[in-house]
Amino acid sequence: VTMFETVQAAPVDPILGLTDAYKADPDPNKINLGVGVYQDANGVTPVLPSVVEATRRVVAAEKTKSYLPIPGSPQYGAAVQRLMLGAEHEVIASGRGSTSHTPGGTGALRVVGDFLKQNLPAAKLWLTDPTWANHPAIFAAAGVATDSVPYFDSATNGLAFDALLAKLRTLPAGDAVLLHGCCHNPSGIDPTVEQWQQIAQTLAERGVLPVLDFAYQGFGIGLEEDAQGLREFCQTGAELIICSSFSKNFGLYRERVGAVTFIAADADRRDVVQSQVNRVIRTLYSNPPAHGAALVQTILDDDALATQWQAELAEMRTRINGMRTLLVKKLAEHGVPGDYSFIEKQLGMFSFSGLTKQQVERLKQEHSIYMVGSGRINVAGVSAANVDRLCAAIAAVCG
Ligand code: PLP
Repeated sequence: VTMFETVQAAPVDPILGLTDAYKADPDPNKINLGVGVYQDANGVTPVLPSVVEATRRVVAAEKTKSYLPIPGSPQYGAAVQRLMLGAEHEVIASGRGSTSHTPGGTGALRVVGDFLKQNLPAAKLWLTDPTWANHPAIFAAAGVATDSVPYFDSATNGLAFDALLAKLRTLPAGDAVLLHGCCHNPSGIDPTVEQWQQIAQTLAERGVLPVLDFAYQGFGIGLEEDAQGLREFCQTGAELIICSSFSKNFGLYRERVGAVTFIAADADRRDVVQSQVNRVIRTLYSNPPAHGAALVQTILDDDALATQWQAELAEMRTRINGMRTLLVKKLAEHGVPGDYSFIEKQLGMFSFSGLTKQQVERLKQEHSIYMVGSGRINVAGVSAANVDRLCAAIAAVCG
């Protein structure tokens, strides 16, 4: 036997494997509600016009392909902080936050994993139940112990807030909690601002470190509204970590644009923490890929382009919300039993449909409709052209 003959095949990725199965399906009316990628009314994932213009400018101005600094371009970091926190924020004025450009939100999460493992080895990381399927895998790969806190209440299709808060009140000082800054994936359920305040207060009192995964700013209610929860954690002196992704809101998926922001008690602590973040990055990917971040920076630093991008983002958000309304109406029209009005209350790209694993499997086998086993639907995959076929199929498997 050779060395490679002893290697076992890895299980198929539950979400990306679905895309492969969809692509291989010959049915011309197949519907893909699986992977979390925005699609327009024609099923296309577009390059945003603001990104096309920024690309033109970046390519024209480029003079070198030499390395970026380990944390990426400082102007990019500053633009990311302004977008998340608002330009006038205390964290920006005091300079106690430092932002590194990472390859996507996934890269940011893995930097956090290695940082925790190397610098806070006793910290357990608590994840929401449910959470994005890649979260436990990323932190397992970094060797960080994880466990879960209650989040979704299937009886009400809402937030299990009392259970969540009760659990947070039992966490030991020195642990960390990974929350979704907005548009919780997969449930689409976010805390209200008042609930965020209570969560932030509880974690601060207990000495538990908040880590926020912020992958959908602008996909929920709006750019400012979606950042409100996150800003509740920035009480004076509080420490926190934010993992940003610009895959969805700038449509830059394959360019791998994200950021990790460590907010420390003061600027001196920030420098110490950043020195360890740099060490982590140096061993993971050395320094980040320049192009995608240059596009984001170009857009955010130009008033006219930023305004254009905001309108393009609003168009994506409005389309998804329109599809939520249409879905609720059509499910009723097709006689699907039950009250699906909760779909309209969920935020972001995803909806937890409440469909069982068996129903999801039948939709795939009998109707060529692809969604994640948990019943998570990518609402952006729904269109006026496919909604009737989708709802008729759901009625067939629910009957
Ligand atoms: N976090 C959440 C909750 C996500 O849904 C995603 C993408 O699906 C990511 C992070 C990472 O995105 P990316 O690495 O593509 O920027």
